[in-house]
Amino acid sequence: MTDKTLKETARTTMEWGEVEKYIKQAANAFETYRLCPKSRRVNFLRQIAREIDAIRADLVETSHRETHLPEGRLNGEIDRTINQIHLFATMLEEGSWVNAIIDTANPQRTPVPKPDIRQMQLPIGPVCVFGASNFPFAFSVAGGDTISALAAGCPVLYKAHSAHPETSVLVSGCIERAAGQMNMPNGIFAALVVTREVSVQVITHPSVTAVAFTGSFSGGKALYDAAVRRPVPIPVYAEMGSINPVFLLPDRLKHHADATAAGLVASNTMGAGQFCTNPGLMVMLQSPETEQFLAAYGKQLAEQTCHTMLTPGIYGAYSAGIKHLKSIGELHILAEGKKDKLLSDTAVPIAFRVSGTDFLRNSALRDEYFGPASIHVIAEDNAELLEIANMLDGQLTAGVWCTDDDIESFSPLFRILERKAGRLMINGAPTGVEVCHAMVHGGPFPATTDARSTSVGTQAIYRFTRPVSFQNYPEKLLPVELRGDNGSDIWRKVDGELTKKSL
Ligand code: NAP
Repeated sequence: MTDKTLKETARTTMEWGEVEKYIKQAANAFETYRLCPKSRRVNFLRQIAREIDAIRADLVETSHRETHLPEGRLNGEIDRTINQIHLFATMLEEGSWVNAIIDTANPQRTPVPKPDIRQMQLPIGPVCVFGASNFPFAFSVAGGDTISALAAGCPVLYKAHSAHPETSVLVSGCIERAAGQMNMPNGIFAALVVTREVSVQVITHPSVTAVAFTGSFSGGKALYDAAVRRPVPIPVYAEMGSINPVFLLPDRLKHHADATAAGLVASNTMGAGQFCTNPGLMVMLQSPETEQFLAAYGKQLAEQTCHTMLTPGIYGAYSAGIKHLKSIGELHILAEGKKDKLLSDTAVPIAFRVSGTDFLRNSALRDEYFGPASIHVIAEDNAELLEIANMLDGQLTAGVWCTDDDIESFSPLFRILERKAGRLMINGAPTGVEVCHAMVHGGPFPATTDARSTSVGTQAIYRFTRPVSFQNYPEKLLPVELRGDNGSDIWRKVDGELTKKSL
């Protein structure tokens, strides 16, 4: 594609008529795609990964120009995206993810015979994905949402993010070429360049069966509200804001104040702070060790600069948010970083301190300020620290920096945090979300609109499937995974026992 066509394609807004055609094609594609053998789905996914790798240099150059993220980070994100695709492909090959459960019949049972019932996960239908601004690859066109939907057997209608339109066109081309080479049904994937109004029309179309979203609270909640108002409501998996509270316990600070500060400053300012897992709130007890930590944090933050933010809108929101925080009398500036004067729209890192009592009184201090900002809350005593933990909203992550002694002294804190976040961690920065089987990147509202799901890791696939039971079905009508011979050689739960045996 020439530069001119790339720019035009990326910026030409589609009319509803064209969009509706893609939705109909996706609905038709679903009928074929959901039934195609798993090897074809696997080959399709792996080919997408190869296509992305083949144009890596172009992708890095284009996305760097559009997002200002450093090239090293973008290269790493492409690796992550490719590995993520292969992880899903490997899971499909192994096959047990369908959660096959078989309860065999007992015709002799009294007073009523027991029927033969077999259950597994089946794909739900076309999924509309809204990509994120802050991960142009891993949470964008061929990111976790798209790939988990395609892995499940669902076509994808992708709403391109206006923060990186050309990158989106290039990655869409990778999926389209892979679909063509692997003879996938027409309409299995479409990238939609549409206004917000048209994107709402997409998710309210009867053929669309689920929505995945990463972005702001206002955007995610608006899409959620539109989806539940439909005559036939559909699930919306929106990953929205989080301040990722971190509790810094006294014995940890006594022995490791400097290292703790270094880890948290790096996590808070990485990528100009534009991570949904950025540690924006740090809570500690008043003590000399806390003052030592705050001094170290302030000293290290004061040395930091950040690169240009993702979009003028995000820069504007960050600047306005910091101006608002500076106007709150109870907040005191702990430290400010440096402004990179050579670049435009660069965020200045900043940290505030506030007493536990004032924090508890002002709910605005619990909002997300997307960028390299943090609020450090100094609790008067253990009871106040626990009260702060108790009043927190739902979060993507919650962390505790502690020693074994701290764990003994603060055991109620750990129980409280289990109710608050999707991922809990000890002595680790929340940024850096591992793509693996056990990851939960989700959490109670308002972090997401569905606390029962994750948008990272292989379990993300279950957002786009539903369990179906087949009662007294003849073998020839059953999906292969549920047939007596277990020809797919997968783990199944048969009469309550996990086994690979045939019936
Ligand atoms: P955003 O404004 O929520 O946009 C995300 C996507 O949703 C974009 O495609 C956007 O369309 C669309 N959208 C937003 N509001 C909509 C609405 N009411 N109806 C229909 N579509 C809507 O997020 P952003 O642009 O990435 O960043 C803005 C703020 O979101 C940041 O300042 C930050 O607070 C937050 N954020 C959070 C995360 C996270 O992971 N939790 C990540 C990034 C950003 P357009 O392309 O037309 O804008």
